Amino acid sequence: MSVPAGSLIHMFDGQRGRDRGAGHPGPTPARPTSVDIARWRVAVADLDRDVPDAERVDQLRALEELKAAASAAQARIAVDLDASQRRAQAAAGVPAARRGQGVGAQVALARRESPARGGRLLGLAKALVLEMPHTFAALAAGSISEWRATLLVRESACLSVADRAALDAELWADPQGLERMGDRRLVARARAVAYRLDAAAVVRRARKAEGERGVSLRPAPDTMTYLTGLLPVAQGVGVYAALTRAADALRAQGDGRSRGQLMADTLVERVTGQARAADVPVEVQVVMTERTLLTGDDEPAAIPGYGTVPAEWARELVKERTGTPKGTGTPGPGEARVLLWLRRLFTAPGTGQLVAMDSRRRIVPPGLARFVGVRDQLCRTLWCDAAIRHRDHVVAHAEGGATTAENLQGTCEGCNYAKAAPGWRARILPAADQRAGPGGHVVETTTPTGHRYASHAPALPGHTRPAPRAASLLPRETGSGVERALADYPWTA
Ligand SMILES: [Zn+2]
Repeated sequence: MSVPAGSLIHMFDGQRGRDRGAGHPGPTPARPTSVDIARWRVAVADLDRDVPDAERVDQLRALEELKAAASAAQARIAVDLDASQRRAQAAAGVPAARRGQGVGAQVALARRESPARGGRLLGLAKALVLEMPHTFAALAAGSISEWRATLLVRESACLSVADRAALDAELWADPQGLERMGDRRLVARARAVAYRLDAAAVVRRARKAEGERGVSLRPAPDTMTYLTGLLPVAQGVGVYAALTRAADALRAQGDGRSRGQLMADTLVERVTGQARAADVPVEVQVVMTERTLLTGDDEPAAIPGYGTVPAEWARELVKERTGTPKGTGTPGPGEARVLLWLRRLFTAPGTGQLVAMDSRRRIVPPGLARFVGVRDQLCRTLWCDAAIRHRDHVVAHAEGGATTAENLQGTCEGCNYAKAAPGWRARILPAADQRAGPGGHVVETTTPTGHRYASHAPALPGHTRPAPRAASLLPRETGSGVERALADYPWTA
């Protein structure tokens, strides 16, 4: 299990800048540290492959138990981190109600998950470690997986701490029986116990769930998208029935579209108030190169907030908007005039990152907000991927941060608030910094533990990221005076 020192340093690339080896306590520490864990990982990647099948099956089981034990260790570490950060915040004078802010975000960054998932993982950890000791012990012993532990936490979420502990004890009174259950039977068993312990709490949870109603959008394959509404059951069934009735009525009148197509079109028409589903009135931004638009190039296009779409599809979309409806020169009755705006974007040679944008469509720019939205496309927090809701000053306005494209980043609501907790810092990496690459917009966030995370603005269409070796040969930024002026325009919206 010996590992050369060079590869150990590499393993911690992107983590704390200080020399981790310097303060190592003594020759052989009694308890393993993150450095030892990294050695185990190397050892696991190098298992003997020349073994009998019985040993292979034993290895599969042993590794499964190792994963579960690692999940339990992560849960306990997250709880300790939360307690320690809360103490530090209390010492810094943070009011009790706001303590704990940003801890889920730190867990998320360390585990390379979205902040929302980081918050859920921290909640799961607290429930397991502090309220469900038997489930936690089973996870640490490797007898249940992290997912099955999550199911037990989820099904007991509506209970008081005392009832949750009672459920935990009752379920694990027969560990062999519980371990043999499939996921569905496990959930059913936990639900039955929860309902017996506190039926009223289960009903209260149903009422609380209503408060979580909402609408979300996420990409589906083949340039489609899922528009999801989380609704109280009666309303959801009502919407579905209304769409079904409308579709059946249209089919009865001889409409040739399928029932599913009619329901989808009716949904869009009724929600947007458009006469035809295809005439979506809100602005949809499509970013593509001139070559893709005009000369049939294959370079894919991008829709900010959605992602990459094929070149041909993007051209069709533009063609549909510019074509005159039904071959006549003017829109017929009930046919809205569809507008298409072309706006030139300037990207930096080499990195393909957005440096400026035509704002001819409007004379006064809310242009800067739009610019940041197109440049960043999704929340700039690593692994977050949520839609942009805020244009956040990287260096706070109060600390002299300018309102320029350079000093703004697109973030979701949650990430904007998380970095307001004490100990979080952010800065723009100067172009001279090797990690920034030539001309790239890179925001470096430092968490209270001193870990640093660099977020690069995505490359726009029309660019292929250069190989790292060639990077230093490329020009650092564009020189046009017009482009610089637009990029520095004050943001007033
Ligand atoms: Zn975010």
